[in-house]
Amino acid sequence: MEDIKGAGFDFVVFTYSENDHEYYEGTFDKIVKVAQGVGLEVYLDPWGVGGVFGGEAYSYLVMKNVHERQVSSTGKILPALCFNSTELRTYIQKWIQSAQKIGADGIFWDEPHFYHVDKGWACCCQICREEFRNRMGFEMPRQLTAEVRQFRIEMLLDFITYITKTSKEAGLKTMLCLMPGEDIDWDKVGRMTWVDVISTDPYWLWARGDYREYVMFWAKRIYKIAEKFNKEPLIWVQGFKVKKDEIDRIHETVKIANAVGIENFAVWSYKATKYMSSIACEDPDTTWQAILDAFKSLSSDR
Ligand SMILES: [Zn+2]
Repeated sequence: MEDIKGAGFDFVVFTYSENDHEYYEGTFDKIVKVAQGVGLEVYLDPWGVGGVFGGEAYSYLVMKNVHERQVSSTGKILPALCFNSTELRTYIQKWIQSAQKIGADGIFWDEPHFYHVDKGWACCCQICREEFRNRMGFEMPRQLTAEVRQFRIEMLLDFITYITKTSKEAGLKTMLCLMPGEDIDWDKVGRMTWVDVISTDPYWLWARGDYREYVMFWAKRIYKIAEKFNKEPLIWVQGFKVKKDEIDRIHETVKIANAVGIENFAVWSYKATKYMSSIACEDPDTTWQAILDAFKSLSSDR
């Protein structure tokens, strides 16, 4: 924590998975205090919770509530709970209470999303089909029609409203990250007065075409929404799976987003993810140094 603070960071995000919540609450209580003790603001991340957030963590909640899983348009049962699952929402409430109890400053709502399927889309479960019928007055089509798209956006917005409002009401700062390209109504997200920070993570790993244009596009979008609705914008920088010949992209990403007006940055993750072999950078030490240098260049530019 001293190393992170010493490098100039103001806050830290801890992954707080279902497993952590169940078995390591007391341990996290200590970790959070250590971080706050050196002057870092602490956000907890519902890593992989219910299979609906970002994160390399499995969900036991999905296994315990198999009847509320998401279903794809081709009828495939998916390893994630439906946004309309009451079990998921009840669990999240408990998870937030735990975060509050152990004294986190805020919650980082990490990429809430429908399960990504190769064929078709989610969610076509019984609850969603019933909800669709109630709202639209006809059966839910299996094609991604305009009505279905609209419905999916509404379901995701409804879930985001639930999680962010509940954490804000618990007195926690609320930071939201939505993946670039997520089918969403950004203006409606902007109108959520209880969301303090909005962010996205335009990792070049996901860019089709030139990554610079990709970063510019998403940085502009986040900046504009934040400005319009008086929020703090933040951009995540890729610090995992970075190849040796991509290291210079870090500084470039920070430079592009900063030129657009973004002043808050975060990186996934500490030490260029050296400790997590499946997504570690090719040369973590050099990459981490490049991250620190890129972030430091921001404060020296001002
Ligand atoms: Zn559903």
